[in-house]
Parts: sequence; C-alpha cells; structure tokens
Amino acid sequence: MAKEFLLATGNPHKAEEFNELFPAEVLKIKSAPEKIEVVEDGKTFNDNALLKAKAYHDKFGGPVLADDSGLVVNALPEELGIYSARFGGDGLSDKERALLLLEKLKETEDRSAYFVCVLCFYINENEIYFFEGRVEGNIGTEYVGETGFGYDPVFIPTDGKDELTMAQLPEWKNIHSHRAVASRYALDFFQQS
Ligand code: IMP
Repeated sequence: MAKEFLLATGNPHKAEEFNELFPAEVLKIKSAPEKIEVVEDGKTFNDNALLKAKAYHDKFGGPVLADDSGLVVNALPEELGIYSARFGGDGLSDKERALLLLEKLKETEDRSAYFVCVLCFYINENEIYFFEGRVEGNIGTEYVGETGFGYDPVFIPTDGKDELTMAQLPEWKNIHSHRAVASRYALDFFQQS
C-alpha cells in the first residue's frame, strides 16, 4: 500500500512536483492544510529539513516530508549553501541574487559549485530518513536562460550540454536535478521497504 506524507510547505505546486516523481502506488504526497512559519536556524541542510518536518508533524500529526535545498559555491563557503535563499539580504529578487553572485565571482578563478537537495521523511520521532541529491557544475559569467528559477540561469552543470545553463536545459533538469536525484534515492528505499 502507498505510504502517505504531508509536505512541509505552503506551496501546492511542490506537492504536484513530487507526485510526478513518485509513483502513486509507492508514495503519495499531500499539501499541508496551511503554511507554518519555521525558523530555519540549523547549521546544515539536514538540520533545516528536520526542523521543518518536525514542526509540521507536531502541528498536523502523521508522516511528513520536508525538503531543503541550496547552491554551494566553493569560493564563497559562508555566503550561500543553507543561506542561498537569503544571499545578499532580504528584499532581493531571485535574479538580483544570481547577478550578485556573478558580481562577487568576477575576479575568481574557482567557479565550481553544486546544488544540494535533502529530503527528510519524518514518520515519527523514532523513524526518520534522509536522502541527498547533488548536481555538480560551475558558475558561468553571464545570466542566461528562461526556464527554472533561482540560480539556474548562472549554473552550468558539468554533465549538461554545450556549456548551457540549467535555465536552458529544462528537460535535462527534470531528470538530473538535485531534487530528482534525492527523490530517486527515496523511491528506491520505499519501494524496497
Ligand atoms: P529552499 O529549499 O526552498 O529553502 O530553497 C533554497 C534556495 O536555493 C532557493 O531560494 C534558490 O535560490 C536555491 N535553489 C534551490 N534549488 C534550486 C534550483 O533547482 N534552481 C535554482 N536555485 C535553486
């Protein structure tokens, strides 16, 4: 029988996305009835995913799925990573953050980076599973591409195509993104358990 998880987010599109990645007979992901504000003050992606999962479990009960993701830029270890959504401070748009990243790396040779996604499947306080997906790449020198979101227009995946950014590779992203990879690990696990 399918295992059902409540998704720890107020965004209904995210639940749809996960339901496209998971076969309904294995995992069913439901949107939460309302969004909860969770202070994400953990030190790792795992900490923050767990904080979100626990907050939704405590409020709504039952199994919860939470995700946390971000871009790790090796030349700026303290600035992005778990802080990716807040890079440059509050009030910037996604595009402004991506442009700020290009600006900060203007003189930098090491442009290596990776996207990370951690999924936390919180069944109860004694049964919690984490799955992590990554996609390796480099930060480009220009903002290019129309699809995706966030840092996609400045991220060139190593295993992509012709130096295109992730925002120019929507089909590639669907299969190879950090979220898709983490989801496949989770699916393998729940299919076997
Ligand atoms: P969160 O998982 O919603 O906290 O996302 C963290 C931040 O990481 C987002 O605001 C984006 O800036 C960045 N991010 C995460 N996944 C992606 C992606 O697939 N493409 C581009 N940016 C991403």
